[in-house]
Amino acid sequence: MTTEVRYRRVLLKVSGEALMGSQGFGIDVAVADRIAADIAEARSLGVEISIVIGGGNIFRGVAVASKGGDRVTGDHMGMLGTVINALALRTSLIKMGVETIVLSAIAMPEICESFSQRTALAHQAAGRVVIFAGGTGNPFFTTDSAGALRAAEMGATALFKATQVDGIYSADPKRDPDAVRYDRLTHDAVLQKGLAVMDVAAVALARENHIPIVVFSIHEKGEFAKILSGGGRATIVTD
Ligand code: UDP
Repeated sequence: MTTEVRYRRVLLKVSGEALMGSQGFGIDVAVADRIAADIAEARSLGVEISIVIGGGNIFRGVAVASKGGDRVTGDHMGMLGTVINALALRTSLIKMGVETIVLSAIAMPEICESFSQRTALAHQAAGRVVIFAGGTGNPFFTTDSAGALRAAEMGATALFKATQVDGIYSADPKRDPDAVRYDRLTHDAVLQKGLAVMDVAAVALARENHIPIVVFSIHEKGEFAKILSGGGRATIVTD
């Protein structure tokens, strides 16, 4: 079914932490299934969806560096964590009947296909949801930057950033009761105000490629599809 939607082709960035639910580490399969159900619902609107998944629920490179270890090795460990999450999310999506493929920025052919723009576009054209694992494939980057990068490579008309809250606030609304929520912002304003919604490199890359960033809550069931259909609650960042 194809209905009127706000964006036809989107890149969804899901942080690793979104998959861990309340358990504080790793993957809660029930939570992964719930997120997959939201993605399946959005897919049924006829929207082409690709996904960048983070790894913060498993490992972050800075954790190694902060204890005197080698940052590059830590980042390799973090990128491997994103592959574990990608496989978990693919498993949940396949359970929902959504054809899904994982493409990794780091070659591991026994486990999944390797990323190339050509392969990714071909899978998307064949109607599959594409999950990008391994971030950008480079240390010192984040999966937010991978989200902006893959959004540009896939020709996505919006970068959806799934967060813990329903948009961008002037401060962390869970800690600061005076935090103000924004409905709309420009990429420049996000950078100038230093709003911690995505890292600077990700916002700058989205700005350069004129890709809107839609920030919404992953905890609101059905919100992804609602926003795609023109409703819902989100902060929209545009030029
Ligand atoms: N990472 C990396 N290069 C990338 C993307 C990720 O080195 O292009 C590593 C980095 O160590 C990072 C970890 O993978 O801390 C997990 O990614 P991220 O922190 O972006 O995950 P999220 O916060 O979205 O769960």
